[in-house]
Amino acid sequence: MTTDPTLQPSDQSGDTGLVDPTAKYQIEVPIQQQPVPGLASELDPPADHGEDTYVGHGRLTGRRALITGGDSGIGRAVAIAYAREGADVAIGYLPSEQSDADDVAELVRAAGRTCVLLPGDVGDEAVARGIVRDAVAGLGGLDVLVLNAARQTFVEHLEDLTSEQWAETMNVNISAPFWMMQEALGHLQPGSSVIFTSSVQAYTPSPGLVDYATSRAAVNTMSKSLAQQLAPRGIRVNAVAPGPFWTALQVSGGQKPEKLPTFGHKNPLGRPGQPVEMAGAYVYLASDESSYTTGNTLSVTGGAPTP
Ligand code: NAD
Ligand code: MG
Repeated sequence: MTTDPTLQPSDQSGDTGLVDPTAKYQIEVPIQQQPVPGLASELDPPADHGEDTYVGHGRLTGRRALITGGDSGIGRAVAIAYAREGADVAIGYLPSEQSDADDVAELVRAAGRTCVLLPGDVGDEAVARGIVRDAVAGLGGLDVLVLNAARQTFVEHLEDLTSEQWAETMNVNISAPFWMMQEALGHLQPGSSVIFTSSVQAYTPSPGLVDYATSRAAVNTMSKSLAQQLAPRGIRVNAVAPGPFWTALQVSGGQKPEKLPTFGHKNPLGRPGQPVEMAGAYVYLASDESSYTTGNTLSVTGGAPTP
């Protein structure tokens, strides 16, 4: 054994910092329900979006990012992480979510970055396109586009799935990403990154999420088509496929309320994910570390297999 101290393991205490992912974030979820779209501030127990846990390392210094649905859940975790990695951010959200959006703005500004707040219903084409234009104006350009806003309403029987719900799901979950991507395109320089949020539902759809699961499969495919088209222009397009995550989406009609106490328990890690556990995937896909990755779907499912 060498006696040269520079060749010894750096940590002699035996503390490797390892955390068992099955033991992390053990939460008790009571039955609860909120009106659509739900607020992160009303979640019981609260979710971890990285407020006290995400540490940045300057991986997105100076970038300008628009995150739709950045007020709560996965989008909030992305906004916090991007700001702590050095990016200025704009977030889209519904007007009824102003209090959640204000909380995010405070966290982004505490990280020393700009936060542009852009309320509006992206199911309306003019509003969706206007949010992109306002983000570009507010940030002075756009380098990262995170298309994450979506609606999810559980309907047990096909007879009860209304044409109104079908149309709204398709508008918000598929058409809005298309409109916003098209509006953003002229502003994206080579090296820019677009990240769609798909879902494990694209591969293993639940019987009561016919419209929602269809929409998540559609954006996954859209991202792969666009990636082919835009690669020669130096714009990368990827998707992230989350498994079950503890967010307002699930308590505002996304699941049957009685299923919430066991939400995520069936997957291999035995628990739902916390939004902060998604943040690294979005940071990676936005950063230059993924410069050879486009047309890919990064699954973060707690072990549920995906193709
Ligand atoms: P969330 O409710 O916290 O975030 C979704 C956001 O979408 C809302 O905050 C809202 O601001 C926005 N939104 C909804 N309808 C809108 C509209 N008409 N106009 C503008 N904005 C609108 O829930 P989340 O779970 O963080 O969802 C984020 C993304 O993650 C979604 O794309 C969802 O499909 C995906 N996802 C979530 C899970 C999960 O288990 N939570 C799993 C797989 C995929
Ligand atoms: Mg919200």
